[in-house]
Amino acid sequence: MVKRGENQIMQRSVLVIEDESEIAELVKLHLRDLGCQVKLAFDGIVGVAEAEAKNYDLVILDLMLPGIDGLEVCRRLRSKSNYTPILMLTSKATELDRVLGLEMGADDYLTKPFNVMELVARVKAIFRRIDALNRGDTKSGEKIVSSGNLRLDITKREAILDGEPLELTTKEFDLLFHLMQNSGRVYSRSQLLDNVWGYNHSGYEHTVNSFINRVRNKIELDPAKPCRIVTVRGVGYKFSEHKE
Ligand code: CA
Repeated sequence: MVKRGENQIMQRSVLVIEDESEIAELVKLHLRDLGCQVKLAFDGIVGVAEAEAKNYDLVILDLMLPGIDGLEVCRRLRSKSNYTPILMLTSKATELDRVLGLEMGADDYLTKPFNVMELVARVKAIFRRIDALNRGDTKSGEKIVSSGNLRLDITKREAILDGEPLELTTKEFDLLFHLMQNSGRVYSRSQLLDNVWGYNHSGYEHTVNSFINRVRNKIELDPAKPCRIVTVRGVGYKFSEHKE
């Protein structure tokens, strides 16, 4: 049971796209305890249509679905500039690499079988982050950060590189914004998980590496020799002011 006050704060709508009805119902039950309105979709096609028809606060998306799979659902939503946070459920550890390796734009993921309290913690972390973003509530209060020809506006969720819009997924944006906002400061992978993902779990550090590489591919002239997001050996990463 959740305290009444918390219920009121957490009034949100969540779309769960999951073909295993037992899991879908279990997730629904716990999200309702958080005060969320929950809609279930049992395949990818219905899920995409539902996500496009209504403004959800969160989509919980199973990877393996009949019809189109979770990756394709992600791609279709993001290609139409739908940036609703997506929490991906994957059933095998081997799928994880596939999920992370692809440019599919999920915000977070959980491996099945998952502990339902872990799911609830992730969902709360996503909501907290979204609230902070909606308030324009960044640590230093800055809403725009820039370095050379790269500029990020957190209110508009807009990234510009060389005068052209730069496509970043939600997490890529958050990661880059965080590093730029604290330019010059070195962060460990564990700190970045805390600050950008909102939770910390040993074993998820490779997620950070994967996202760093993806962002580098988008902003570095030579991703093999990054000069913006710099690796500090044995410590982590920092954003380095770009010299034109
Ligand atoms: Ca499934």
